[in-house]
Amino acid sequence: MLVSGAAGRMGQAVVAAVSAAGDMQVVARADPSLLPGGDAYPDVSSALGARPDVAVDFTRPDVVFDNARQYLDEGVHGVIGTTGLSEDQLAKLGQLAGDGSANLVVAPNFAIGALLMMRFAAEAARYMPRVEIIELHHDRKLDAPSGTALRTAGMIEGEVPIHSVRLPGLVAHHEVILGGAGETLTIRHDSLSRESFMPGVVLAVRRVGSRPGLTVGIEPLLFDDE
Ligand code: NAD
Repeated sequence: MLVSGAAGRMGQAVVAAVSAAGDMQVVARADPSLLPGGDAYPDVSSALGARPDVAVDFTRPDVVFDNARQYLDEGVHGVIGTTGLSEDQLAKLGQLAGDGSANLVVAPNFAIGALLMMRFAAEAARYMPRVEIIELHHDRKLDAPSGTALRTAGMIEGEVPIHSVRLPGLVAHHEVILGGAGETLTIRHDSLSRESFMPGVVLAVRRVGSRPGLTVGIEPLLFDDE
C-alpha cells in the first residue's frame, strides 16, 4: 500500500493504523516533506514504482485530483480522504475508474459517527425542513466549507446554509441544527482525535478492490441497507 501525504496529520495516523492492522503493509510513503530513501518518496509518481495495490491519499485539495489520476492510470486502487475535489473533478475520476482496471473510493469522512450524523440529519430534515450546519475545524484546514458539511447539505432538500469555524485545538466537529415552531433539534458529531477515522480507512483499503468504478462515501461498506 502507498500512503500519500504520509508526513501529514492524517497520513501519519494512517501509516500507524495500517501497520497495526496486520493484513496490509505500507510499501511506500509519498510526501515532499519526507527525507527520500527507503520507502519514502518525494512524490506520487516515483512512489508508484514500488508497485502498491492500493494508494491512500490524505494530501491537499490542490494536488489530490492529479494524484488520483495517477493511481488510476497505473492500475492502482485509490482510497481518497483528501477533501476539496470539485463535482467536475469527481465526475472525471468516476469516468476514469469506470473505464480502467482500478477502483476508487472517495470519502469526505471515514468516522462512523459522522456518517450516522449525516443519515439522522437527512431523516430529520424530512420533517423539519429549516436546517443550518456549523462545521468547526483546526485552523490549518485548507478548504471551507468542509467536505462533510457539503455532503450533509447535499443529502437534504432545499437550501442549507453552512457556517465554518477555524480555531486551534479543534479536530473536526459538525453540528446540524433543525428549526421548527418553538423548537430546535441539534445533531452533533465530534472527532476528538484522528483515531476516529482509522477503522473506516482500513475498511476502505480492504474493500476497494471489490468495488468496481467510483464509490463516494463508505456508507455502502458499512451499512447493510445501502
Ligand atoms: P496535513 O497538511 O497535515 O498533511 C498533508 C500532507 O500532504 C503534508 O505532509 C504535505 O507535505 C503532503 N503533500 C502535499 N502535496 C503532496 C503531494 N503532491 N503528494 C504527496 N503528499 C503531498 O493535512 P491533514 O490534516 O493530514 O489533512 C489532509 C487532507 O485530509 C485534507 O484535505 C483534510 O480535509 C482531509 N481529511 C479527511 C478526513 C476524512 O475522514 N476523509 C479526515 C481528516 C482530514
